[in-house]
Amino acid sequence: MKDNRDSINQIKESIDIVTVVERNVKLRKAGKNYSGLCPFHNEKTPSFIVSPDIQRFKCFGCGKSGDIFNFVQEIEGLEFPEALKKLADEAGVQLEDNSKPSKYKKIDELNDLAAKYFVENLSKNKQAKEYLSQRGLSDESLEKFLVGLSGSYNSFYKYIQSLGIYSKDEMLKSGLFTEKEGKVKDRFVNRIMFPIRSSSGRIIAFSGRKMPGDDFGPKYLNTPETPVFQKRETLFGLYESKNSIRKSKFCILCEGQTDVISAFAIGIENIVAPLGTGLTEQQIEMIKRYAPNILFFFDSDKAGQEAVSRGFKIAAKKGVNTYAVTPPSPHKDIDELIQADKDLAIKLSKPKLDAFTYLINRELEKRDLNNLKDYNFLVNYGNELIEEVESQDIKNYYLKKIKFLTQSNSNEQSGTFPSEIKTPQIKKDTRTSLTSDPELYFLALILSKDLSDKVDKIDTKYFRNLNIAASIEYLKKHNDLKVEQILENEDLDLNIKNLIEGIIFNIDSLPEELREPRIALNDVYLRIKSDYYARMLELVRKQQAIAESEGNDEKADDLLAKAESISNIIQQLKV
Ligand SMILES: [Zn+2]
Repeated sequence: MKDNRDSINQIKESIDIVTVVERNVKLRKAGKNYSGLCPFHNEKTPSFIVSPDIQRFKCFGCGKSGDIFNFVQEIEGLEFPEALKKLADEAGVQLEDNSKPSKYKKIDELNDLAAKYFVENLSKNKQAKEYLSQRGLSDESLEKFLVGLSGSYNSFYKYIQSLGIYSKDEMLKSGLFTEKEGKVKDRFVNRIMFPIRSSSGRIIAFSGRKMPGDDFGPKYLNTPETPVFQKRETLFGLYESKNSIRKSKFCILCEGQTDVISAFAIGIENIVAPLGTGLTEQQIEMIKRYAPNILFFFDSDKAGQEAVSRGFKIAAKKGVNTYAVTPPSPHKDIDELIQADKDLAIKLSKPKLDAFTYLINRELEKRDLNNLKDYNFLVNYGNELIEEVESQDIKNYYLKKIKFLTQSNSNEQSGTFPSEIKTPQIKKDTRTSLTSDPELYFLALILSKDLSDKVDKIDTKYFRNLNIAASIEYLKKHNDLKVEQILENEDLDLNIKNLIEGIIFNIDSLPEELREPRIALNDVYLRIKSDYYARMLELVRKQQAIAESEGNDEKADDLLAKAESISNIIQQLKV
């Protein structure tokens, strides 16, 4: 851009910043300056000031400031060269066209030629056109994204050769060709071609999708990295969607090119996709320039979930708000959902559920909070997700969420992250310690009243404490053994051993049980069962609320029915 310094000054001299700002902001004279409502953030009283003297603007609300170029870039979502071009046209200033390093010029030319060639080729191929229209890609969206078709084997190579302009080296550098045993060949053969553009609109690479029925090669084949194409710094669709992202204040991230194009076809235009790699910090930064919010709309499979988790971590670290949603089954990806239920796709493409809650909830669905191992897993998982967040405020925000999601019936002190729950420590000579926890008391009753014949009918799934559950399972297997024989058993797990010893050595401190031992044991078992269902009920209610906020009505209904049946069980246990 150095070469254009003169032009920049010329433009600044000939166009007044007040005139440009006034096209978007109603300005009022205030002394030497002008003020108005900031176009970059929502406000009711003006904190946006324009100074004609220094030809700069500044907002005292959101902090945005700059010159005429910054303003045009920001308000129109343009890259600097584009803003420069626009204002140069307006000022009638001639720009030097040497801003592009010439070593990349040949690659750019080849990419442009390829795009034209592929589009032309597609227009002649009925089968490919039919396939694309079956997939819901309208002519309009094909045109917008310059979708094309690479030809038969080496047809593009022959075409470029026939021009006689490009050297073998230049051709190979573009990534459009490969070389095998000294022979140059087309990289893309008979594939649907999606040009990949830089955020300023230059075609920098291609992604080629296999035609149906073609068994050769991977489903998607991308241009390898070249001097003009770095995957980590590119987002498919950003050039086409940046204005919509800026206007809507959020950006949808989906998995693939066809998702983006299908979404555009139904009017969702604030959507981009990374290029078959995990989301990178650079890509989050790129989005952040246009909007502070991201909605992850990834596939519903495991890889999709991992992508949300990865994306959340990077975005949270960068202070970007994230939301998440997945296509409800049976739809695998947003593209499939769009083909099946356009209205639902549009409904789901608004940010509702924050990505953190979404992620924790996905784990909740797979796990059982009644199980201490799962509970501890979840707490650690949540902790790990926000590990790299630097801001304590943001951390606290997520902290509250994980407490809400995991702490059943807990009124633990606030401000700390929930920690792992450990097996209660049995202290010496404390009368309360054994009775304070029903599960522990249950085991104590069995051991002290010689009730080990009762364990056969006990279902340990109701027990939250894994060590107690394991002890009971152990007793089930060895109910012919006396306690001292059990403790002598070599293969006894150390945790179980400690637990049983802790009880045995404190048996004297057990308060006298007034009930008949078998009745007492039964009562305690009922209490354990009903605690189990109470925790489960709370969890299901939370998940139901989440499903509602996700817009997944079917799931919410299922969970409501589940909650009702659990309530019934609890009622029956009370009788
Ligand atoms: Zn502002």
